[in-house]
Amino acid sequence: MTSSGTRGGIDLGGTKIQAAVVGADHKVLGEEREATPTEGGPPDVAAAMVKAMRAAAEQAGVETSELEGVGVGAPGAIDAAAGTVSDAVNLPKWADTSFGLGEALAKELGTEIRIGNDVQVATDAEFHLGAGQPYDSMLGVFWGTGVGGGIVLNGRDWVGRGAAGEIGHIVVKIDGAKCPCGRRGCMEAYAGRRPMEEEARRRHEDGEHTELFKIMKKKGHDRLKSGVWEDAYNDGDKLAKKLLDRAVKALGAGVASAVNVLDVEAVIIGGGLGTRFGEPFKDRIAKQMSKHLFADDRPPAILVAELGDLGGAIGATLLFDEG
Ligand SMILES: [Zn+2]
Repeated sequence: MTSSGTRGGIDLGGTKIQAAVVGADHKVLGEEREATPTEGGPPDVAAAMVKAMRAAAEQAGVETSELEGVGVGAPGAIDAAAGTVSDAVNLPKWADTSFGLGEALAKELGTEIRIGNDVQVATDAEFHLGAGQPYDSMLGVFWGTGVGGGIVLNGRDWVGRGAAGEIGHIVVKIDGAKCPCGRRGCMEAYAGRRPMEEEARRRHEDGEHTELFKIMKKKGHDRLKSGVWEDAYNDGDKLAKKLLDRAVKALGAGVASAVNVLDVEAVIIGGGLGTRFGEPFKDRIAKQMSKHLFADDRPPAILVAELGDLGGAIGATLLFDEG
């Protein structure tokens, strides 16, 4: 029973792999999540992706070979034509290597594979199916482990020479905090979940009180996931509040700077922390932005991403809408 237009999408993240199957109308027919392997290498990650996709297809009542294709939103450097992903620093043993992900998945899933940039496919999902629908130009800001950005101008993706949208590395403080990219003062150094965790650990070891790590253990995590930050913040944890306030200020300065260059109609805020903290934080980011906007009499619309956690996987299915 191949229903034409049924396809799969996989969002390959550093923490989790989210797979979805959608129908021709983009409605989700099945979805499955797998933890991203932290050990092994690219073939192990590919195997986990296959497992998630098969489970999502089963829910949708189709074989993976019956799908029109499977789109993948991947981090790192992507060669869409060759189907390879390289330099994916957040994936195990994938930092200095190039892996034929497309070929590995096609062999197991029995259908065509298309690979795109994770942030760009999530931006496309919001633009075509989510909060960005009313606009012709938008900036997607994905606030999570790092801070990613996707750009749509006049209805088309702007990828530059392949590396556009790296909004996390807008400098918000000269000679500022160390960023995971190795440089200093980037927005991500203040707002990325990973550097925020490192800063929290440092301050905690220096004697500052926080419940962050207790909450983390209680939840059975070994990292300060978005939900841990949320619980600590809601409990009035001072350090969590301080670091989140710092992140919001950095986001305000960085996103406003991007808007000063692009003058887009809308900014859509997603990602693990972005969707978790939702409307109240979006308003706080907007307030911080207003200090730095050059055309401050007509700010862009600032919205929370509508597709939430599934946005990346749904966006990956759109790789088959381009013909
Ligand atoms: Zn950086």
